[in-house]
Amino acid sequence: MFVTRFAPSPTGPLHLGHAYSAILAHDMARAEGGKFLLRIEDIDRQRSKPEWELQVIDDLNWLGVWWDADPMRQSDRLPTYSQALDMLWDMGLIYPCICTRSDIAAALSAPQEGVALPSGPDGLIYPGTCRDRMWFERTFPETHPRPQTDTFRLNMAIAAHRSDAFIHRIDSAQGGWHSYATYQETGIGPEGRAGRIEFTPEDMTKSVGDIVIARRDMGTSYHLSVVLDDAAQGITHVIRGADLTEATKIHVLLQHLFGLPTPIYHHHRLIRDDQGKRLAKRDDARAIAKYRSEGATPADIRRMVGLPTA
Ligand code: GLU
Repeated sequence: MFVTRFAPSPTGPLHLGHAYSAILAHDMARAEGGKFLLRIEDIDRQRSKPEWELQVIDDLNWLGVWWDADPMRQSDRLPTYSQALDMLWDMGLIYPCICTRSDIAAALSAPQEGVALPSGPDGLIYPGTCRDRMWFERTFPETHPRPQTDTFRLNMAIAAHRSDAFIHRIDSAQGGWHSYATYQETGIGPEGRAGRIEFTPEDMTKSVGDIVIARRDMGTSYHLSVVLDDAAQGITHVIRGADLTEATKIHVLLQHLFGLPTPIYHHHRLIRDDQGKRLAKRDDARAIAKYRSEGATPADIRRMVGLPTA
């Protein structure tokens, strides 16, 4: 069974880029006779707003996008995230971190001016300042449960070596892709990367580093939640923007650590503005609500993002 999803964060309006992602995933699920699910990614309590959520849902329905089960809501799943963190703590793979952004920049700052600081999918690569914090407690997790209120980082060097396979493969074009082939034939659909992204523990340590796995103010992170939720929703195909290709490596690694299945990933092209820049949340000019208020039809939106209309 083909099961895919769209996972908006209700922190701003649905714009053309989101619409493309949602319609594409929805079209593929329908073409495959599979399921399309919705997940509200509202772990960022500061930025998520109920009014954005209502607008996003209304825009999706207007676009003809419907889901086959009640939406999953991340803010309902905090106990699950906490349990998963406990598991990582017991495995000795996470540590509390008290560094601020400027501490990290200062620790990394290059002696020569103008030399770019090392960065990965989550920004600056963490220099490891707190890696030995609570070393004693972490060595004896059975008598020292995880403190609940800290920011935690994943010790990437250990985690990457620990996970099952030495080389992780993300196969984005294997099995169940009949409609994908059809899209390719028409030349209209997803022309995202097909093929493999390969990575080794060394790559993960060097080019991703010790990512934040739980933020103090959230009790989780995008990476942790998305992996647990895709598994809980039984997602077989993840269809999302090419901007998340690098993050997918982190997700596959976490799936290995938790013993969860890895879905097939399809990273689609990004919808860009007239200057060729990727659309951002604040691009209200591209908001679906704005096009609606100007009298556009759902078919107009499909045309704007290069999708077939019939
Ligand atoms: N909430 C994420 C976003 O809005 C979803 C990313 C994903 O599909 O994994 O970009």
